[in-house]
Amino acid sequence: MPPLPLVAAERALLEERRRLTRAEALAVAQLPLDELPSLIGLAHQVRLAWCGPEVELESLINAKSGACPEDCAFCSQSVRFDTGVDVYPFLDVEEILAAARATREAGATQFCIVVAVRGPEERLLRRVIDAVGAVQRETGLEVACSLGLLHPEQADRLAAAGVRRYNHNLEACRELFPEICTTHTYDDRVATAELARDAGMELCCGGILGMGETLEQRVDFAFELAELEPCEVPINFLLPSGTPLGERRMITPREALQAIALFRLILPDAWLRLAGGREFVLGELQGMGLVAGANALIVGNYLTTTGRPPEEDHALLEALGMPVADGPGEGRFVVDASGAHPLPARRSIPVVVE
Ligand code: SF4
Repeated sequence: MPPLPLVAAERALLEERRRLTRAEALAVAQLPLDELPSLIGLAHQVRLAWCGPEVELESLINAKSGACPEDCAFCSQSVRFDTGVDVYPFLDVEEILAAARATREAGATQFCIVVAVRGPEERLLRRVIDAVGAVQRETGLEVACSLGLLHPEQADRLAAAGVRRYNHNLEACRELFPEICTTHTYDDRVATAELARDAGMELCCGGILGMGETLEQRVDFAFELAELEPCEVPINFLLPSGTPLGERRMITPREALQAIALFRLILPDAWLRLAGGREFVLGELQGMGLVAGANALIVGNYLTTTGRPPEEDHALLEALGMPVADGPGEGRFVVDASGAHPLPARRSIPVVVE
């Protein structure tokens, strides 16, 4: 018999088909790690029931690296830390197109253009918009962008240019954020996430685990993300990097799997993407991450670290019997019977409105 908090969570998510309350999620989080197999089993069922078996693949390009004026303590691209990261201005459109073609060849359906800035100034925004059009015309890929803090007019222009999804991570929970960054606020990040969504782009919003947060703060973080109704939630794991947080104890594989499973229970309908650090933290347990509730991967390299060859991820998905999604989903939102919880509808899962 599974522990009572897991029985309650299963009833809520699979029978009553409702989201967990914070108390329910905390009770699950406080179970000993010895119960991890049962937690993973439930997370996998929830993923299948709410999202289906597909795994969505995305590649990204660090189109302008380093020299960012902000002081995010985890980030090797901040100008304030001596991390040895590559520093270069916005790439030529041909270099971006080459990466987009490689993305398509790697079997991914989404391509994200990322720049290391506080927010885009006019010339950069124009160049990004030109690159978005070129990638769409040449490759047919869905294009996402991650350009930092936005003004409303900038969000509207990106949406009009056909940017499907905008990434803007909260990075950490509200309580921890002031220890992580002092040059902008948590509410600045929330405001841009809301702007992107309100402009009509899908919201990709996640963060980094292993920055010293408590288990309770990890749960709070997932609930704070859920409030923004993200279509996608990337989960990164902090790695030693020469930043002020570089000496933090790395999250253990079992803690990482527990976190992935908890995020799945709290965000049952999101694309939950394993991003930076998965190879280092999960190692041989990367497949377990996909059984613990994750249903999306970054393939190829990350912003400042090298990933593994995409063929290895395809082989892993085949071994797990998880098909590659033929696109990033429809990203529409419908309202359920209570009217209280908008649910993203996807091709793979009918949303039942009783
Ligand atoms: S704003 Fe982005 S690129 Fe700049 S330091 Fe923070 S996380 Fe790094």
